[in-house]
Amino acid sequence: MSTKATDELRSIRDDVVQCTQCDLHKSRTNPVVGSGAHEADILFIGEAPGEEEDKKALPFVGAAGKVLDKMLKHIGLERDDVYIANTIKCRPPGNADPTEEQKNECLSYLTRQIEAIDPKVVVCMGNHATKSIFNLFGLEKKLEPISKIHGKLFQADPIMFPNGVKVMPVYHPAAMLHNPPLAQELRKDFKKLKAAIGVKP
Ligand code: URA
Repeated sequence: MSTKATDELRSIRDDVVQCTQCDLHKSRTNPVVGSGAHEADILFIGEAPGEEEDKKALPFVGAAGKVLDKMLKHIGLERDDVYIANTIKCRPPGNADPTEEQKNECLSYLTRQIEAIDPKVVVCMGNHATKSIFNLFGLEKKLEPISKIHGKLFQADPIMFPNGVKVMPVYHPAAMLHNPPLAQELRKDFKKLKAAIGVKP
């Protein structure tokens, strides 16, 4: 089936595969564009692909991905019910933090993904993705550390985004690997997420 969202997501994929805007295309094995339902209600955004993602060309397929899968299951969802992408489409060598330049070069792909999917809620995972998404949605004045704002719903600037999309920051799933008690917080936030898309938790 070909829908407008599917066509645009294909075109984004083609553009990312050919992208040479920053140096990361030289060291990547594969770009990691994103995966999931093309008209998903929930769009999850992580930071950047890691080693496993770079090998498999899929987002969140390593240890952090297993945590994400568990959280989705906790609210009765699977990967194919949502869309998963990253702010940066190519792995920074050694999993270094992406530079401002790399983030800026890649931002247009994320913006196009958000427009194509038109989700009800964009979930930004961790401080890095939250900063990028808050800037993109005109929420920079509301930005605080993830420990303060996780699980809260923010309304994107209604003039820039008249469709009423909301933003929810959550802890990055990889944080559970170093700090297992945080899983309780993430589980609670996922329940709120389910309520936010209009399904009883
Ligand atoms: N961490 C991220 O932020 N993104 C991935 O795709 C994998 C791990």
